[in-house]
Amino acid sequence: MEFKGKTVIVTGASRGIGKGIALAFGQLGANVVVNYNSKVDEANQVVQAIEAAGGKGIAVQANVGDFDSAKQLVDEAVKAFGQVDILVNNSGVTKDQLMLRMQEEDFDQVINVNLKGNWNMIKHVSRAMLKQRSGRIINISSVVALIGNAGQSNYVASKAGVIGMTKSLAKEFGKKQVTVNAVAPGFIETEMTDNLPAELRDAYLAQIPLARLGQVEDIAEAVLFLASEKASYITGQVISVNGGMV
Ligand code: NAP
Repeated sequence: MEFKGKTVIVTGASRGIGKGIALAFGQLGANVVVNYNSKVDEANQVVQAIEAAGGKGIAVQANVGDFDSAKQLVDEAVKAFGQVDILVNNSGVTKDQLMLRMQEEDFDQVINVNLKGNWNMIKHVSRAMLKQRSGRIINISSVVALIGNAGQSNYVASKAGVIGMTKSLAKEFGKKQVTVNAVAPGFIETEMTDNLPAELRDAYLAQIPLARLGQVEDIAEAVLFLASEKASYITGQVISVNGGMV
């Protein structure tokens, strides 16, 4: 797979899965827009690693949940590299709590970043992608969108919403050869899962036939494939990368 001359925006690329995806594109020669919300030093380090690997990168701060901030992110990408070929909506947050304890703001915040954030980004890239009659949009959902999870009614609703949005926009954008797919990771080793209590981690591990948590590279490989020419007849799909868990 080759991405020389292609421009990709990866949201939430300062760490975790987004960082892994950004580095993977950089290693294949892409121009990578490394979005972050708060961790500027981490984002700059990702850009340095991309450049060391032969790609080009810029770090851009934006809160994807904010409509205008998401627009600025897309504008910066176009200003730096001319157009956007690939959008990876990866930013995500959790605010886990059982229903009886969950506060309204825990619900609103998670929906705003994980679901509305994807919509904001797609809104701002889609006009140009449709006009250029090519584009790849890849949304990062989650295994829990497929099976539910106690204590995550907000997060699971956001990630199931991402799947519905993916399937709907695949139908809207297909005629213009813009594909829209989702990747649903299982349990991947990042800061998001580092905070899990040991008993819960072991319980999840027991449900994974491949008997290990996933690595960010496992997700990056699926994203690269969906972004590549090889996946040009795939749209509206959810690719599960979960060690066989579901
Ligand atoms: P992570 O390590 O917690 O990193 C989250 C990333 O999202 C960071 O780069 C963060 O930026 C960014 N972010 C947070 N709020 C943002 C906002 N408002 N605007 C822009 N960026 C924002 O998470 P991860 O584990 O890599 O997860 C990445 C994605 O995969 C998420 O969508 C998550 O739901 C999904 N996922 C993860 C797992 C897993 O097991 N880890 C499983 C299934 C799905 P800053 O660093 O600047 O704060």
